[in-house]
Amino acid sequence: MAESPHSGYNATVQDFREIEYPMLKGSIYLDHAGSTLCAKSVMDMFAMDMTSTLYGNPHSGSWSSQLSSSRIEDVRLRLLDFFQADPTEYDLVFVANTTAGIKLVTEALRTLPHGFSYVYHQACHTSLVGVREEATESICVNDCQMKAWIDGEAPFKDSSSASSATLLSYSAQSHLNGTRYPLSWAKQLRSRNTNSKSTMYTLLDVASLSATSPLNLSHPDFAADFIVLSLYKIFGFPDLGALLVRRASSDVFSGRKYFGGGTVDAVTCHDEPWHAFKSNSLHERLEDGTLPFHNIIAADFALQVHARLFGSMARIREHTSYLTERLIDGLSGLRHGNEQPVCVMYTGFAGENSMLGQGPVVAFNIKNSSGAWVSLAEFEKLAILKHIHIRTGSLCSPGGIASVLDLTSWEMRKNYSAGFRCGSDNDIIHGKPTGVIRASLGAMSTLSDVTQFIDFVAEFFVEATKTTSSTEDTHKPRHDTSLMVKSITVFPIKSCGGYNVPPGMQWEVRPEGLAWDREWCLVHRGSSQALSQKRYPKMALLQPSIDLDRGILHVKYNGAPMSRMQNRVTISLLANSAPFKAFDSNLTSRVCGEKVSVLFCISEEINDFFSEAIGVPCVLARFPPGGQGLKSRSTKANLLKRRQGSVTKKALGVVCDVPSPPDSDAEKQDEGKILLSNESPILMITTSSVAALNADVKANGGDDVAETAFRGNIIVEDPRGTLPPYAEDEWQGITIGSRDFKLLGGCQRCHMVCIDQVTGEKKPEPFVTLAKTRRYNGKVYFGAHMRLDVGKSDDDSLQKPTISVGEAVLIRDAS
Ligand SMILES: *Cc1c(COP(=O)(O)O)cnc(C)c1O
Repeated sequence: MAESPHSGYNATVQDFREIEYPMLKGSIYLDHAGSTLCAKSVMDMFAMDMTSTLYGNPHSGSWSSQLSSSRIEDVRLRLLDFFQADPTEYDLVFVANTTAGIKLVTEALRTLPHGFSYVYHQACHTSLVGVREEATESICVNDCQMKAWIDGEAPFKDSSSASSATLLSYSAQSHLNGTRYPLSWAKQLRSRNTNSKSTMYTLLDVASLSATSPLNLSHPDFAADFIVLSLYKIFGFPDLGALLVRRASSDVFSGRKYFGGGTVDAVTCHDEPWHAFKSNSLHERLEDGTLPFHNIIAADFALQVHARLFGSMARIREHTSYLTERLIDGLSGLRHGNEQPVCVMYTGFAGENSMLGQGPVVAFNIKNSSGAWVSLAEFEKLAILKHIHIRTGSLCSPGGIASVLDLTSWEMRKNYSAGFRCGSDNDIIHGKPTGVIRASLGAMSTLSDVTQFIDFVAEFFVEATKTTSSTEDTHKPRHDTSLMVKSITVFPIKSCGGYNVPPGMQWEVRPEGLAWDREWCLVHRGSSQALSQKRYPKMALLQPSIDLDRGILHVKYNGAPMSRMQNRVTISLLANSAPFKAFDSNLTSRVCGEKVSVLFCISEEINDFFSEAIGVPCVLARFPPGGQGLKSRSTKANLLKRRQGSVTKKALGVVCDVPSPPDSDAEKQDEGKILLSNESPILMITTSSVAALNADVKANGGDDVAETAFRGNIIVEDPRGTLPPYAEDEWQGITIGSRDFKLLGGCQRCHMVCIDQVTGEKKPEPFVTLAKTRRYNGKVYFGAHMRLDVGKSDDDSLQKPTISVGEAVLIRDAS
């Protein structure tokens, strides 16, 4: 198999990948490789040209302006030639991207005297679906309905609207699963519907097809009126799109109303407003404003380099088809120990359209050995760790997703009501996935991308035959253990470093958590979202310490020296002291019916300190009165309940994030269990579990992981070494000193555990090993959440319960 007819191409790509695409080193690129990347040669040629030639703004007589104008016209012709489009038959209009081309066509059809009827194929991109909002009537058709239409059956059963035009839109190749659709549809429809009163137009989306296949507009079967595409999908750079218009259909644009600089020859403003559109060519009438002329010039270099590197589009098509076949074979061949397939494929069953071949886009989902879906979020976390670039989700393909996943519109709306949003993590709803995994191959893809990816799926998702838990019989009575508190850590600023409570100091435990734990957080100035170490690993380098005697929180930055300031700040522990200011207290009080406000720091010095440390503009925020912790934190919990559907969601995004445990995926907690309780839990880990995990990490060839990586509040130590690893999974509760705690369940983990809490660096371990050894129902757990059990004791010291390092720990078991 190694000696494929494409091995020559493959070897070449492998070679120049090092030179042309150095940023790909060490990555498996399965998200339009080649088409979304910028070749170094293009960049070099473009830079050379830009620094040696003066290009002026087109539309004037200076030589620099004339030079730009003539380069633009050259590129226009070269691109027409690239698509084998005869310039006397087609005009090419430069647009920002595919979507902008679609909007231009829509805008024109809307101005027709009786509007237009719209028929769109179900594999359409969202950008084509949106056109329906401008149409007088619209319908989404599947392959059968398309065929019926071509055979003469009108798509609109009782067409009430008397629109004078009908627009059909479809994709030449589905960007969801690579299915190709006949380019001849336009011609077939036109010949069958000659006696219809309505003029027939076809808008063909070739954005996906043109990225890896030749497009031949001179083919006698090719009859689309409008063709849209994004040049960056073919060349990687520049960011530019094109709308190709069949000149015979350009009348559609004559009713266009808007004009801008560049598209008119003359305009008057006063007594009699009048204007004359440019009349030379269609593109002159449609390209409003200054063209992105530098981008257009860059496209010329992109064309040259692309031809030099890859030869022809036909070669790219051959190469990617070959890789696609290998990928489909590899994935569909994977089996669990019990013979069940691992991947559910949505690609490769073209049926009637199989003559057209299969585009290099492979969509699938993964199931575990008992047939349950693996969540996309879970898959993605592992893919990120392994430097795999791949898309997951519903991929802007509403009709395609519904069809491959067998989701009805009703189910999709119900999912929306249940909180599912494009890009959300909660992606398995009512036992069905809401999206897919999509690997797309391009000119730059190599066989090694494909085989490494198949190996990855095999390594992480293929389950050997199910074994019953081997730890079951190792449970021993707990009384003989001599557990103790090794350390107590609070994380005053969410996602930043921890403060270790000194031995001997009594630390207050509140019903909602340890005192001062996650009292503050950092909020992005743009998005109002609380910052997380997962995204900004340098937050680990912000080292807090709490001075209760002086009422001060010190924060020191342990990274590189800062440019303008000292690398430390001090912040008062007093809630209402300057420099904090309430933020729109009316807003929050309206939401929770209680007078509570979020406080934002207004000291530029402090905010600048954090912004410079992390490298992102942010503001320090705080949740008010620490004194009656329960009251303030329980209000936070109340706010959480209002989270969905609240118009104030954005302003409160900050609030919502806070009661999450320090190191787990805030977004992914089981809401019923933790987020809606009135307590912000304490995270506990045991040294025996850390040791067991480290043994597994070592066996995988990794290095020891520090206990601090798990960001536990309390580390329970087992000096005698008698505690079995992961025993805490089974515990109902523990007692520390004289305080009872109730365990709330395992802590769900994300790759934040891979951030070294001392250096802020990210490594693949321990998440890679955790994902293999501690994954249940697609979620990875380590450590346990707990809270103070206030219900049971009437001890009056409960008014201010405390714990300290070194205290004994007793276990309350399930049994
Ligand atoms: C990418 C894509 C689009 C949208 O392209 P933009 O550049 O985002 O406008 C539309 N249709 C298909 C088939 C695509 O693949």
